[in-house]
This record gives sequence, structure tokens and C-alpha cells, in this order.
Amino acid sequence: KGPDPDLPRITERLSTVRRKILILSGKGGVGKSTFTASLGFALAHDPTDADDTADNIDATDATPVSQVGVVDIDVCGPSIPKIMGLENEQIHQTMAGWSPVYVQDNLAVMSIGFMLPDKDAAVIWRGPKKNGLIKQFLRDVEWAQLDYLLVDTPPGTTDEHLSIVEYLKGSNIDGAIIVTTPQEVALQDVRKEINFCRKVKVPILGIVENMSGFVCPGCKGESLIFAPTTGGGRRLAEETQVPFLGSIPLDPRIGKACDSGVSFLEEYPDSPATTAFQDIVQKIKT
Ligand code: ADP
Repeated sequence: KGPDPDLPRITERLSTVRRKILILSGKGGVGKSTFTASLGFALAHDPTDADDTADNIDATDATPVSQVGVVDIDVCGPSIPKIMGLENEQIHQTMAGWSPVYVQDNLAVMSIGFMLPDKDAAVIWRGPKKNGLIKQFLRDVEWAQLDYLLVDTPPGTTDEHLSIVEYLKGSNIDGAIIVTTPQEVALQDVRKEINFCRKVKVPILGIVENMSGFVCPGCKGESLIFAPTTGGGRRLAEETQVPFLGSIPLDPRIGKACDSGVSFLEEYPDSPATTAFQDIVQKIKT
């Protein structure tokens, strides 16, 4: 079998994307899509826009706003449209390809969710069809100039992961972020993700531990509900010599924000989860 004839077209299409980041998780339900969406919101956030900081910003000093794309290739459970408030949107075909759906001028989203007849429709597709769609998302979408392209992948290490790595071979993947929860089972799955990345030679930007303590909505105090395994993400990172990006506590308001399709970072700037998340974003940016 020779090289895929579409590879040069994918490489050409993505030549205008500066950083490509894959978001992985060993299991479903650990908050991978929430993390991807929030990272998209945070990277696209214009600091000069915020009412609270407007007074302190020197316009000549401000860094330019980043252009961000999010592509959701979780073909079996596309949740990005809902989390990003784009539930009833559709993609459009143009002369140049498919145009993504925009949350705002500098935040574009592409998801299989936009192509389903209704949001409860199950996607039961065989491998080749899924791979074909992933390929189209990379080859045919008019992303234009992007500073970041975030790829939300399915849980585990599946054929879809192999496809995406294969398709991005010519375009330099920046690296992968692995999202996990503190429980040991999730952590065991993380080892598989790490091994996968090493095998396919995708650099690991780091591990994020999500839902690692509980923030009481009343007193805002944090309880470590998974106490025996707390710190597991950091330990695993040390043991496997992978950077540890940080822990995000469990805050029930995150689920609420996701359900209504708004960024929890902006809705709840006082949440310890927001503070933790912003720290992680800074590490990813640099
Ligand atoms: P995955 O993509 O890994 O399957 P999701 O991002 O869909 O997981 O998250 C699963 C659920 O957990 C969602 O309802 C989401 O709102 C919630 N969630 C994610 N992170 C947190 C957190 N830190 N605190 C509270 N709820 C969270």
C-alpha cells in the first residue's frame, strides 16, 4: 500500500495552522471535551475585551488575539457543539471547501455533531467511513490562518487516533494533552495513552488531572473526595517523565455552564477550577 494520495492536500491545507494540539483521554467522561472547549474559549479570549481589565491595558502593549479552531473527531459522541453553544448550527459548503461554525470571529468549530439529522441520532459508522470523515475535516475545511487547532479525539486509542496521526504526519503535530481523573483505573488507561504517543512519536505536552477535588458551592472550600488517589496524576507524570500541567477541581457549576453552552471561565471567574484552568492555559501557551 502506497502513501495516501490525500496527504499532500491535508498538509497544504494545514500549512496555515501554527500549533496543532491533540486532546486525549484513556476513558470517556473524564472531562476531555469540556477541557477542549474551555481551552478553545481561553485561547481565543481577547484580554482587551474584558470589562474588568479594560482600564489596565495599554493598547500598544496588547498581544494580538489568537485565531483558534476546534475540530471534534469524537465520531461516536460529539459533545463539542453543545458545550460551545452551537447545538442547532450547520456547516456550509463553499467554493473553497466547508466553512466551520463560528462561536465568535476568532473561534471556529467543526464537529460531526453538525452533520447529524438530530442531536439524538446515534452514529453507527464503520471504520472507513469514520476515517473518511476525519480526513475531510482536515483536508476540506477552510480554517484559514490559525494560531491553534485543537483536536478533540474519542476516548482510548482507536483507529481514529491512528488515522489522525497518519493524516497529520506531514504537518507537524505540536503535541498531545492527556486528560484524566484521579482514580487509579483512569490512570492505568493514561499509561496506554502515553505509550501510544511514544509509539507514534507524538510529543506529550502534559497530563491534566480533572475533577481532582470538590469545590463546595456554599463555602467554596475544596474537599479531596478521591483522597487515597489524590496526586495520582502528578505522580504518574513524574514516573513516566511527562510534564504535569495541573489539577482542575470538580465544580458542579462547570456542568451547568456546559449544559447552557457558555464558557465557565467567564461565567465563574471566581471558581478555583477557573484559576487552575488558567494556570494550565499559560503553560500550554508558552
Ligand atoms: P469526556 O469528553 O471525557 O467524555 P465531558 O467533557 O463530556 O467528558 O465531561 C463529562 C461531564 O463532566 C460533563 O457533564 C461535564 O460538564 C462534567 N465535568 C467536566 N469537568 C468537570 C469539572 N472539573 N467539574 C465538574 N464537572 C465537570
